Amino acid sequence: MFEKNIDKLKLNISQACKASNRDIKDVKVLAVTKSVSCDTAKELLPLGYNSFAENRVDSFLEKKEYFRSENIEWHLIGTLQRRKVKKVINEIDYFHALDNFKLAEEIQKRANHSINCFVQINVFGEKTKQGVSLSQTINFIKSLAEFDKIKVVGLMAMAPREADDFEIQTGFDAVAKKRLEIENLKLSYAPCSELSMGMSQDYALAIKSGATYVRIGTAFFND
Ligand SMILES: *Cc1c(COP(=O)(O)O)cnc(C)c1O
Repeated sequence: MFEKNIDKLKLNISQACKASNRDIKDVKVLAVTKSVSCDTAKELLPLGYNSFAENRVDSFLEKKEYFRSENIEWHLIGTLQRRKVKKVINEIDYFHALDNFKLAEEIQKRANHSINCFVQINVFGEKTKQGVSLSQTINFIKSLAEFDKIKVVGLMAMAPREADDFEIQTGFDAVAKKRLEIENLKLSYAPCSELSMGMSQDYALAIKSGATYVRIGTAFFND
């Protein structure tokens, strides 16, 4: 059913990798299943996609239960309210939206193992968006040193829908540069080797800036 979309996705990803001299193996594709049913999401498994991302706690838990006998890597990509941390934090493999200290405190309190977290950056300075500003990112990550349940695996960013390609590329490049700065700090709890950037509209740009995880919804499932 999705073969055509997937062919297009693969072609675009390989072209973006070629254009930026990157190995295609370094770009992991997350299937954002938030707008499709469990049955629809299931069709991706035989096609080789088994990293799923959801942005809401309740629909995540529903899908996780449905797929309990499958080997799936689970990513929570949306804002997480503190009161829901307890319900979900030990059920996921990656959390993409860590952006405040109080949330980090709650994760520390509720996690029973180290949680792979991306720090979400508000690179475009949008008032309505979640995320730490670029200028505060290093301070924020340094403030997480006291939490042994938080591992900062990378940075996450989202481009505004209305931005043009040049603005998006500039923003993604800035996040990539910040990621390298953080990696170079060599903090034991913040290897920060990953970049979660790029959605259906802008994944090629994100790959050119160095994205290692792209989060793809509509480009998989639209018809
Ligand atoms: C929905 C969503 C995506 C996927 O968006 P598409 O445009 O459908 O690819 C990626 N990241 C986040 C945080 C989302 O909420």
